[in-house]
Amino acid sequence: MPALFIGHGSPMNALVTNKWTEDWKALGASLPRPRAIVAISAHWYTDGTGVTAVSTPRTIHDFGGFPRALFEIQYPAPGDPDLASDLTEILAPTPVVLDSYWGLDHGTWSVLVRMFPKADVPVVQLSIDGTAPPETHRALGERLASLRDKGVLLVGSGNVVHNLRAGFGDQAPEYDWAKRFDEKVRELAVSGDAEQLAGYERLGPDAELCVPTPDHYYPLLYTVGARREGDEVTFPTEGLNGGVSMLAVKLG
Ligand code: ZN
Repeated sequence: MPALFIGHGSPMNALVTNKWTEDWKALGASLPRPRAIVAISAHWYTDGTGVTAVSTPRTIHDFGGFPRALFEIQYPAPGDPDLASDLTEILAPTPVVLDSYWGLDHGTWSVLVRMFPKADVPVVQLSIDGTAPPETHRALGERLASLRDKGVLLVGSGNVVHNLRAGFGDQAPEYDWAKRFDEKVRELAVSGDAEQLAGYERLGPDAELCVPTPDHYYPLLYTVGARREGDEVTFPTEGLNGGVSMLAVKLG
């Protein structure tokens, strides 16, 4: 099973049709049917690592100021408590808390609603321990790689470039620093250099502008950490939108 990173951008991508949502739809249709999905969303950023361990995860509308239609979207995919408990073993010795409060946040469902519109593939969300250094997230991704052999699709969801102060939307300018960093990430993804991607803070001033906070970048480290020898690396969607990169990365 491939491993994916998706640049999710605005929650409105769950509602409107654009180049990116069309790409996500095509990507979902091109994949072998997964047995389950493990999603790592920028929007479940916690102290320690948790995993959703309920059979019917709720759809979380974790945003404000959007049209009512967006709040009405439900993504009723089942959970997979057995997979959640397997994750506690796979990720050991990192402690993983079985969580029954969180569900699927928009980092996960705004993308999956396009990729798997029938919501019939079980989804488990893994939280990002915001207290852990970047290298830890890459290493956790490496441990998740074994799930790919069991038909489990790994989906990291964030944005490689995520500087909201620089603006985004139809009128947003194209920034050289965003372009350069986006290109650098692609190069390192193709060459399989997950360690250097985890060491992004050493990539200079562009990295500071593109990753002002690491929450939207860390999901990428799980995906590239799960790389397997011989994986083809492709970019199912791409494009900069002001201070946001919509780049998606597919391994395998
Ligand atoms: Zn986001």
